[in-house]
Amino acid sequence: MLLAAAAAVALVTLQTKTDPDLGIAEALAQARRARISNLRYDLAFTIPAEKSKPVAGRSLIRFTLADAKGPLVLDYAPDRAGFLREVEANGVAVQVRQVNGHIIVPAEALREGENSLSLDYNAGDAPLNRSDDFLYTIFVPARAHQAFPCFDQPDLKARWSLALDVPDGWQALGNGAELERDTRDGRTRLRMVATQPISTYLFAFAAGRFSVEQADRNGRTFRMFHRETDAAKVARNRDAIFDLHASTLKWLEDYTGIPYPFGKFDFLLVPAFQFGGMEHPGAIFYNASGLMLDESATQDQMLGRASVIAHETAHMWFGDLVTMRWFTDVWMKEVFANHMAAKIVNPQFPAVNHELRYLAEYYPSAYAVDRTAGTNEIRQPLKNLSEAGTLYGAIIYQKAPIVMRQLETILGGDGFRDGLRDYLKKYSYGNATWPDLIAILDARTPENLAEWSHAWVEERGRPTITTDLKIANGKIARLAFTQRDPYESRGLVWNQRFKVAIGGDGDRVTLLPVALNARRVEVPAARGLPARYVLANGGGIAYGEIHMDEASREWLLANLPSIKDDLTRGSAWVTLWDAVLTDEVKPEAFLTLAVDALASENNELIVTRVLSYVRDAFWRFSTPAARTRLAPRLEQVLHDGLDRAPAASLKSVWFSGLRDLAQTPPTIEWLTRVWKHDEKVPGLPLAETDEIRLAEEIAVRGVADAAVILDQQLERTKNPDRKAQLAFARPALSADPKERDAWFTSLLDVANRRHEPWVLEGLRYLHHPLRAGESLKYVEPSLMLLREIQRTGDIFFPKRWMDATLSGHQSQAAAVIVRTFVDRLPPEYPERLRRVILSSADDLFRAAGVKLPAESRRP
Ligand SMILES: [Zn+2]
Repeated sequence: MLLAAAAAVALVTLQTKTDPDLGIAEALAQARRARISNLRYDLAFTIPAEKSKPVAGRSLIRFTLADAKGPLVLDYAPDRAGFLREVEANGVAVQVRQVNGHIIVPAEALREGENSLSLDYNAGDAPLNRSDDFLYTIFVPARAHQAFPCFDQPDLKARWSLALDVPDGWQALGNGAELERDTRDGRTRLRMVATQPISTYLFAFAAGRFSVEQADRNGRTFRMFHRETDAAKVARNRDAIFDLHASTLKWLEDYTGIPYPFGKFDFLLVPAFQFGGMEHPGAIFYNASGLMLDESATQDQMLGRASVIAHETAHMWFGDLVTMRWFTDVWMKEVFANHMAAKIVNPQFPAVNHELRYLAEYYPSAYAVDRTAGTNEIRQPLKNLSEAGTLYGAIIYQKAPIVMRQLETILGGDGFRDGLRDYLKKYSYGNATWPDLIAILDARTPENLAEWSHAWVEERGRPTITTDLKIANGKIARLAFTQRDPYESRGLVWNQRFKVAIGGDGDRVTLLPVALNARRVEVPAARGLPARYVLANGGGIAYGEIHMDEASREWLLANLPSIKDDLTRGSAWVTLWDAVLTDEVKPEAFLTLAVDALASENNELIVTRVLSYVRDAFWRFSTPAARTRLAPRLEQVLHDGLDRAPAASLKSVWFSGLRDLAQTPPTIEWLTRVWKHDEKVPGLPLAETDEIRLAEEIAVRGVADAAVILDQQLERTKNPDRKAQLAFARPALSADPKERDAWFTSLLDVANRRHEPWVLEGLRYLHHPLRAGESLKYVEPSLMLLREIQRTGDIFFPKRWMDATLSGHQSQAAAVIVRTFVDRLPPEYPERLRRVILSSADDLFRAAGVKLPAESRRP
């Protein structure tokens, strides 16, 4: 009560003294939350066939107001397509003020209790993702108000009624089931039933030329909207996609004890979607290429498809039914979606080693950010939703699930599940915070979860774990682990339980439990065991910068491929790569070992992981001369792998390695013959997407007929969406520097950055390692554009923009450009964007030997 009253007063002060800030400030959100309830939106949009014409909108917003003492702030910040025509409050035309992306309704027009606002406007285009014959909305994290007026915050949930007026021949979908449809005069009008209470960022619709597939599973109808033109590809994928959704839904209903909360279940496959998926209730949007797989799909892609379906479907409970109160806790919905996805996918792939997959899926990506000076806390404070996009990244998606698995271990599987059931039930169709959940779980364990949460969730970075091993006569005399905070002034201790692997005689690996809950912990059970190597992460659980003892490191560098156990072998690779980055192992030694190991490695998860490290070691950490020396043997090993692989999926992994790493003329010529269809890869059918990628990789290698190959590929490409994407990226691949300059310059206009995956594809080739010298000049302008990218782009774009820009560089010159830029940033530069740069530049800095000043290592 006290809090609510204080917040309402704050709003009055805000209005009388100052206008609201740009974006949605936390204080504004809290004040509105205290005043507004029972919120309902009736929205009607008229969508013209031509994307250059505006989308017209009418809204009726109804709500209960706790008091009418001050004006009311709506959010509306459209781009130049948008325009407010008129507003009525409670049936009377009213003069409103528009300021800083808000509409201010005067207090005189409002009354305590039930109110209604009618608004007539053109919608802003930016979050509508308009193409020639389709559009789809993306309103996460707070972009709904860039299209239409609303209260754009997650804790003002509303019931949404939607009407769409679209060109005849278009399909449409929204969160609610279709109620009625009427076609006349070349237009189709649809109305959808009102939704359950959902947040603005989850409201969505799409309309356009889509094909619709329908299937019944377990008494429920699923509909899939898509734009795939290859009928055989659709036929090959459709049943698997419906089956995965059905089994995932059933699993989640059983686990949560709550039936699917949102009525109908549709989903849309978007070509070149900017995310993997987006969890709109009743209308999930997916990246089409993640679900419609080619015959050359790898195991990783098949697991990825099951995972993204499980992830988005899990959001129906975690995020959609119970939503974070503020985006500070956006990580909660992502961590549960990924944590549940890992459980759900498990029984769907009985042949896969899921402990190994968990390791490969989460640890390398989490470490790639957490080892850098740009890393962040899992739970980050947020003053304004305009910066919410910068909260997303590997720390939320990959580190947080690792941390959540630790929490589940502390509580036990049943206790954890029962706690989640209580939480979902208590906050259904409402909002909750991390402290709300911790309060529920804390009651189920004697351990101090608040303390545990502080180190893992509220602070950034990972512990530096050192192995203290003493061996006498081939047996362990002492084994202990110490942990240290990389930010020394902070002195954190991370409490974690893991399993250490001890490699003994022959193939024997012993796993011993360790509770690392102090700065130094001994493992007495290890005493007397025969040991050749000790690996803290050998059980696939320990999290940190793990330093092996010297003897174990030397043994692994000589013998790693001989480890029989897949999980231990996979863990050894993860740990060795950290050792490369901390200068304990030379990149050449790592590459030599990796090439030797690949000659006999057949586990697809490990081949995929090692090849990923090899790509980094080869392009980022090797000199051109060293690459030339290594290339013939590396390519031979990849060829042999391709020949001996028993299945198309593993063949595809080897083939993509060859395609990305090819250096010698014979291999480039062979790839060209494959692309020309003069030669086939036995057992590996190549799809249109594979051929496009192949053409691009051949072209960037500067072959004589690169331009002809790209032109022919453009002609060959049948699917209109893929064709448009290739046409867009093509100048970035040009041999002519002027064309590349013009392409890069065109990105300065936001209109040319609308298709983010297209931009990223072009940037990766523009900055390909083979062209790094010529592309150095684009680095600084790209850094300068980052703030605008953050303001105008979707949530993942700033980090991906930086990653793609720096991905091909290894030179001192490139590192100095970035370092100088960071050093000269003004104090008001957003800290989160500074961290994005530091995390994307980490490998470059390491490769170029550029050290950051000590203050960059501040906690
Ligand atoms: Zn998600």
